[in-house]
Amino acid sequence: MAALNSTSQTPGAPLRCISTRGQSSVLISDAIATGLAPDGGLFLPEACPTVQLTGPGESLAQLATALLTPFFAGDRLEAALEGICARAFTFDAPLHWLHDETALLELFHGPTAAFKDFAARFLAETLGCLQAQSGSEAGSGAESGAGSGAVSTVLVATSGDTGAAVAAAFHRRPGFRVVILYPDGRVSARQAHQLGSFGDNVACLKVAGSFDDCQAMVKAAFADASLREPLHLTSANSISLGRLLPQMAYFARAALLCRQQGLPKPTFVVPTGNLGNAFACLMARKAGLPIGEVILATNANRVIPEYLTTGHYQPQPSVATLANAMDVGNPSNAERLRAWFPGREGLRGFSVSDEDIRQTIVETDRRFGVAICPHTACGVEALRRARAEGLTGPAIIAATAHPAKFESIVEPLLHRAVPPPAALAEMLARPSVAEPMAADVEQLKGWLRRGG
Ligand SMILES: *Cc1c(COP(=O)(O)O)cnc(C)c1O
Repeated sequence: MAALNSTSQTPGAPLRCISTRGQSSVLISDAIATGLAPDGGLFLPEACPTVQLTGPGESLAQLATALLTPFFAGDRLEAALEGICARAFTFDAPLHWLHDETALLELFHGPTAAFKDFAARFLAETLGCLQAQSGSEAGSGAESGAGSGAVSTVLVATSGDTGAAVAAAFHRRPGFRVVILYPDGRVSARQAHQLGSFGDNVACLKVAGSFDDCQAMVKAAFADASLREPLHLTSANSISLGRLLPQMAYFARAALLCRQQGLPKPTFVVPTGNLGNAFACLMARKAGLPIGEVILATNANRVIPEYLTTGHYQPQPSVATLANAMDVGNPSNAERLRAWFPGREGLRGFSVSDEDIRQTIVETDRRFGVAICPHTACGVEALRRARAEGLTGPAIIAATAHPAKFESIVEPLLHRAVPPPAALAEMLARPSVAEPMAADVEQLKGWLRRGG
């Protein structure tokens, strides 16, 4: 097969990124290294490149390189992009057709069995490259530029899946150490075990508090320059452009596989919390990929479906649900959605209750013999409702985690065991260690200063 070609409408000039709240622009690698824009907004490409791809490519890595080339053209990461994609995308995102018109896009074949592995690995490779470059070039402006010999500290608060994906991506990577904070007793037993199972350059702190407490502690540490600078604190949360960009690749590849089979543009259904995955799907559509409607499926946290219906964005306190990775009351990427899709065109949203999640898990197993996780169940139910409203044609549901990660919910409903995939089983067999900590910013700061 010939190499995949991609072309951009604006060849030559490197892409600039601007904040959702301002106009000053930076290069894409600086946007990735910085995370949050200095004015508190989120970075987005100044203009979305139009990408023309000749086919789905031979692998996700090849497709990702072709797709992202116009974004990185002229940037200091351009030459490294192919290697970054080859090392980040080492596992596939296969389509599992349930019947003629509906498929699951399985995003859980990475080391921690959830879709966040793709983005975390791309971010780790990217930050690794930038750190190596700033070690050899004097005067680079990258915030993560720790210089040769210095170690960057990736500090993350997690409600479960993000921390594990980030830890796995940076585990044993020279030049980085990872500190994870999670709310003790509020993640699933398997998630907790996974978080503490890394060791080496990964430290795990179980905080006597809520996820919001953990996030507040992390924010306070970042706000303290006397800590941020000497420790080279780096963020890896879902607002980073370095996490959004790679997530376009699996949506693009699935859409191009459909085109190759002569199918009409598929609808995509994306289980949604902070809107990172769904925004990547919308960005792929904006870049010209053959993607039809995008359906945002939330759990009982219904801020996004309400915004799509009414046009009013009204954050709410989050409520706990069975799909805990989507328990978000003020989605961090909503600002990007409103900046790029103010008319909410080609978008629908549905909110799914815990009761409907349970019923959908049972029903999907009964009809298709397939176990799904509670987040994926929100997607399956949202599609059912969209079909009832008249939606026709092929539809692809993002299956965001392996059901074995949520065995305490799924197994009792299905009355059978759901065996974990090999990578997860291996992680669960390792010892797991987490250090207890009070929900106290000063205690975290002291711990970080002492070097853990
Ligand atoms: C993080 C997560 C989501 C939500 O993704 P967002 O990008 O935050 O919208 C959905 N499902 C699972 C399993 C997750 O871990």
